[in-house]
Amino acid sequence: MSLKFDIRPSANPTPEKEREAKLENPGFGRIFSDHMAIVRYTQGQGWHSARIESRANFPLDPAGAVLHYAQEIFEGLKAYRRDDGGVNLFRPDANARRFQNSAERMAMAKLPEDVFIEAVEQLVRIDRAWIPGGEGSLYLRPFMIASEVFLGVKPSAEYIFSVIASPVGSYFKGGPAPVSIWVSENYTRAAIGGTGAVKCGGNYAASLRAQAEAIDHGCDQVVFLDAIERRYIEELGGMNIFFVFDDGSMLTPPLGTILPGITRDSIIALMKDSGVRVREEAYSIDQWRKDAASGKLKEAFACGTAAVISPIGKVCSANGDFAISGGAAGPVAMGLRKKLVDIQYGRTNDPHNWIKKVL
Ligand SMILES: *Cc1c(COP(=O)(O)O)cnc(C)c1O
Repeated sequence: MSLKFDIRPSANPTPEKEREAKLENPGFGRIFSDHMAIVRYTQGQGWHSARIESRANFPLDPAGAVLHYAQEIFEGLKAYRRDDGGVNLFRPDANARRFQNSAERMAMAKLPEDVFIEAVEQLVRIDRAWIPGGEGSLYLRPFMIASEVFLGVKPSAEYIFSVIASPVGSYFKGGPAPVSIWVSENYTRAAIGGTGAVKCGGNYAASLRAQAEAIDHGCDQVVFLDAIERRYIEELGGMNIFFVFDDGSMLTPPLGTILPGITRDSIIALMKDSGVRVREEAYSIDQWRKDAASGKLKEAFACGTAAVISPIGKVCSANGDFAISGGAAGPVAMGLRKKLVDIQYGRTNDPHNWIKKVL
């Protein structure tokens, strides 16, 4: 299926001076571009009314299904400005596929992959002036909400798919600072059969209390354990996790209840390219503590689209704290980070054809 987008440029876009001022120090997620993509779904009619238009409020009835039963899914990807002035997307097809899986799990209408990608590309083209230079990027947030006006509990018969764009600065000025993480023993994130493997807002709602507990303990982020044995490392609130050992091998928790990160998948592929063994295996918090103490564990890092790679410097829990690689950013994490970022910005070859040039 293919939908034609009706492109309606904003009648009063942000003046250039104002935009340039906003792009100087955009931070994360508070500044937005001038336009949005929007596509509607109605049962019986399918996807329709695809538009690129001025960013504006949605009219939403107070009985709109999403407000009551939380049928909501989202994605996150970035547009990167190349040195030649062109613009890259990184694996947008993978986001489109994951969005379909999320829709399936949440009993929502599945958006065709080509419509997802077209919406993202059209928005990037019209708002290209909002892509910061240097190490900044334009963060793209595709999402879908259930919009049927009905309080009965059932899958909604109507949906709104939209994409908004937010310029973001380099996540870390002057290289990534190692983060400290808090091991959540009171709260879990996901169980088998649940929604841990899909990108739905509800997962985040349920993680915020644990994240607040991490902050209360002076940590940056929370890491969750499995819901059954409460032993095996799963992932952070919004990032996957990797471990690097003294024999050069790596380990990351297996898919199932964790979110299948595109950064995670890309890291596994890049490491395999360079002959490094990456095991997708369960790893317990006790083993982590032991391996950190014995020196068998060299590095640990978190990964995701927003921050790319965040080295983990310290782990805190109710049973005491321990440091990793002396609390500093390790060479494997930093090397991988550079490799990924260089591919994203088109500064090096792209052996897996991950880059989609939009401009
Ligand atoms: C989005 C997300 C990630 C990272 O996925 P990427 O595709 O690498 O950005 C990891 N964990 C959770 C819970 C997420 O929502």
